[in-house]
Amino acid sequence: MKKGGCPICDFVEFRLHQALERFLDEGINTPHTRAKIEWTNGFCNYHAHRLLTLGDPLSHAILYHDFINNVMKDVPDKHSKTDRSAHKECFFCNIQKSNDDDYTKAFLEFYDNRDFEAQYEENGILCVPHLVAIQHIRFSNKKTVKRIVDTTMEKYKNLNHHLSEIKRKSDYRNTHEKWSEEEKDAWKKAVHIFNSYPGIRP
Ligand SMILES: [Zn+2]
Ligand SMILES: [Zn+2]
Repeated sequence: MKKGGCPICDFVEFRLHQALERFLDEGINTPHTRAKIEWTNGFCNYHAHRLLTLGDPLSHAILYHDFINNVMKDVPDKHSKTDRSAHKECFFCNIQKSNDDDYTKAFLEFYDNRDFEAQYEENGILCVPHLVAIQHIRFSNKKTVKRIVDTTMEKYKNLNHHLSEIKRKSDYRNTHEKWSEEEKDAWKKAVHIFNSYPGIRP
């Protein structure tokens, strides 16, 4: 919560980073994992580029040698039904989806803990996709969901106030007024709150 953003996004991002690192350390040498990734035609655009940012030329050479071999087999073959441009069921998308579901449910469960709720009131702010996901959890305690929604709406109201101030202070009559620290970040924060973090949600 202390980071001040969406705690679910932060956790999903943290776990994704761990999964990418673990894959390069161990997964690459696990035949079962390698076969699964080859079968699903590598990674989606986002996760391929995330893995790339971690470096590791040897792991990439091992993986992409196989991927490109498959392309050379399938693409010239008129009878091949495999679409080598598609990357459905990406290994990391699946991990991410399952973490996303788990942490969304966990947030709702933990919210009945008074300390957790107080921490959220003080620091966090759920992004819109995760707030809506919490509303759609089946068999949930509706009162808890309402408390989360009400508290989050207060936070959105506050964020929108900062956005209004940015608009007002950008008017030529008010450009002499200094931007507060919160206003300096509010426009960036609004993008994260509205669209979640890069690659966390479609
Ligand atoms: Zn989020
Ligand atoms: Zn993916």
